[in-house]
Amino acid sequence: MYNESMQKADTTNLVGASLDDLEAAIGGLGQPRYRARQIYAGIYQRLLRSWDDFSDIGKQLRETLKERFTLAYPPVQQVFVSRDGTRRYLFEVGPGQKIESVFIPEEKRDTFCISTQVGCAVGCIFCVTGKLRMRRNLVPGEIVGQILSLLADRGTTEKRLNIVIMGMGEPFHNYDNVMSSIRLMTDEDGMSISPRRVTLSTSGVVPGIRKLAEEPVIPNLAISLNATTDEVRDVLIPINRKWNIATLLQACRDFPLAQRGRITFEYVLIGGVNDSPEDARRLVRLLQGLRKKINLIPLNADPWLSLKSPSSERVLEFQQILVDHHVTVNVRRPRGEDVYAACGMLAGREQAKGGDR
Ligand code: SAH
Ligand code: SF4
Repeated sequence: MYNESMQKADTTNLVGASLDDLEAAIGGLGQPRYRARQIYAGIYQRLLRSWDDFSDIGKQLRETLKERFTLAYPPVQQVFVSRDGTRRYLFEVGPGQKIESVFIPEEKRDTFCISTQVGCAVGCIFCVTGKLRMRRNLVPGEIVGQILSLLADRGTTEKRLNIVIMGMGEPFHNYDNVMSSIRLMTDEDGMSISPRRVTLSTSGVVPGIRKLAEEPVIPNLAISLNATTDEVRDVLIPINRKWNIATLLQACRDFPLAQRGRITFEYVLIGGVNDSPEDARRLVRLLQGLRKKINLIPLNADPWLSLKSPSSERVLEFQQILVDHHVTVNVRRPRGEDVYAACGMLAGREQAKGGDR
């Protein structure tokens, strides 16, 4: 399954290339620059994966391109289809290096959840990915390649598409590759996904949030808050010892929001750890004055995690306190449970089968 052409140092794979990269590559072949635009549109708009399908390029040039360059998506190892229609894609991007994406169909829109790293160095104790060793950063061809794979399978272009960068990995630990990928996703001459339909989730890497605030293209920001005191957050998300809740929320207050834009705060409810009514009231106080919505995510329990899900009464009580304080709140209903497609559960099982834990 492992394809040598997906190696990090590979410069022959043009999936993930920017228009500038393509112009340089094409210039090297003595071809005019408009050829680069044709190839760019072919890769990101027409989802072409074979040089033979570039009907707007003559046969001779196609042959040269075939010799020099590949168009490789991350190799799909398996697709798990859930009873509710959720599809979990398992890709193998190197020997024993598994990453995952999830395709979640809904009535009015489809949501793609994509990964940014093989493993994650943050090491949150409630997250299966965090229990894996950090292997490497994904490159743009592998990040947008997940979306291209899912798009090619989706068939329809009618439904709205949301991209959530909430799979494996901490996006701000792979800042440059993630930003190049967001530029490819949102470029009107490329994949043309509105930045308002892209959400990046971070565990709270404050310098990343501040740097993102300066970017020309800014996606929606989601923060995995998951606790209301530093005492608890220090244990759940180790980087809280570096950037505590006050520092994190200050960066959120300084973050530029588009008109009607809001920051999403994710809050994984863990039974007996952070699910009390006092936590709910503290959460309201902490986030006062921020334009926000809160996603409550009951913990997806796993035998590898020594933590338990909250009772449904606790979830309802927590939610009601937020509602009583006029906070917009959603409880994330589990999707694709029968194929382990929940965020934070990704690739753990398959990686473990390879003995990598
Ligand atoms: N690293 C980034 C994005 C990926 S994690 C981040 O932490 O934000 C995506 C979301 O899954 C985070 O909000 C995280 O808190 C949540 N998550 C992780 N493990 C989980 C679990 N076992 N059950 C429920 N949600 C989980
Ligand atoms: Fe990494 Fe996010 Fe999992 Fe924490 S929750 S270990 S930051 S993937």
